Amino acid sequence: MRDRRARDDDGPTGAGVGGDADLRPDGSGTRSEGADVDTRETPGGAGSPIAGGGVSLDAEYPLVVSDLVKSFGGITAVDGASFRVERGSLTGLIGPNGAGKSTTFNLITGVHAPDSGTVTFNGEEITGLEPHQVANRGLVRTFQIARELKEMTVLENMMLAPKGQVGERLWRSVTPGVRGGVIEQERELLERVWETLEFFEIDHLAEEFAGNLSGGQRKLLELARALLTDPDMLLLDEPFAGVNPTLEARLLDHVHELKDRGYTFLLVEHDMDLIMENCEHVVVLHQGRVLTEGTPAEVRDDEEVIEAYLGGSV
Ligand code: ADP
Ligand code: MG
Repeated sequence: MRDRRARDDDGPTGAGVGGDADLRPDGSGTRSEGADVDTRETPGGAGSPIAGGGVSLDAEYPLVVSDLVKSFGGITAVDGASFRVERGSLTGLIGPNGAGKSTTFNLITGVHAPDSGTVTFNGEEITGLEPHQVANRGLVRTFQIARELKEMTVLENMMLAPKGQVGERLWRSVTPGVRGGVIEQERELLERVWETLEFFEIDHLAEEFAGNLSGGQRKLLELARALLTDPDMLLLDEPFAGVNPTLEARLLDHVHELKDRGYTFLLVEHDMDLIMENCEHVVVLHQGRVLTEGTPAEVRDDEEVIEAYLGGSV
C-alpha cells in the first residue's frame, strides 16, 4: 500500500501501486515532473520531502489542539480542550450531546475563531484562519451537498469541488494565459474525478442528480469531493448520520482503506460503539474539555467516561 508520507518522492513510478485506483494526482506521473507543478502553500507540509523545521512532533502529530476556548453568549461550548491527532490514525472524538464536539471541529476548520487557544497543523499555527485557508493547507472537512448542487449531477459536483473548495491547492499551479496548461489541468482533474468515483463505487451514478442520491450515497459523494481537494487529513462530523447499515459499512471500509494509504482522520461521532470498533485512539470530550483519551479499551474502562455517557455528573 502506498505511503502518502513519501508521496512527493514517488515520481512517475508511483502510479497504480498495488493495482488500486490511485487517487493522487501524481499517480499519473505528471505532478512531480516540474517544479512548477506542485506549488504547495506550505512547502514544509507533511508530505513534502523538504519538510522544514525538523520538529519530529509535527511529523508524528499533524494536528495539535491546545487549550481551545469558545463561548457563545453565556455558554462555554469549548472550555480548554487540548489533544493531538497522530499521523495516519483514525482518531475518534466522542462525547455526549452538547459536549462541544462540533464546536471543536468548527474551531479547527476555521468556521469559528476561538476566544483563546491554538490550533496547529503540520507545524504551522492555523488558529483563526478562514476555512478555505485551512483547506488549502490540507486539513479538509466534508461539506454537505448544498441545495443548489443537488440539481447538478454527481460528475458536475465533482468537477466543481476542487475549484470551489480548494482553489489554490490544485489550481494555483495553472499558469495564467497558458492554454495548454489549463487543458492539461482539466484533463488531469477529470481523470482524477473518475478514479475517485470508481474508488467510492459511485461512478455508475455520475450522471445522476445529486439530489436523487440516497443519504449514504450522498455521504460517499461528500467524501469523494473532499478527497479531490488533496488533503493530508480529513475531518468528518457524524458522517454516518442517516446512513443505512449497508452503506455505513461501505463508508467505513473506504475510510479504513484511505487510512491505510496514509490519510489521517478525525472522526466526530456520538455512537460510542462505532468509535470503539473503528478507531485506534479515542478522545472523549465532556463539557467542552477532554475528559479522557486513549485506546478504546482504556477509554471503555474509564469510569468517568461511563458516567458521562450514563448522564452522571462528572
Ligand atoms: P456537540 O457537537 O458535542 O453535540 P456542540 O459543539 O454542537 O456539541 O455544542 C456545544 C454547546 O455549545 C451546546 O450547548 C450548544 O448549544 C452550544 N453552541 C454550539 N454552537 C453554538 C452557536 N453557534 N451559538 C450558540 N450556542 C452554540
Ligand atoms: Mg455535534
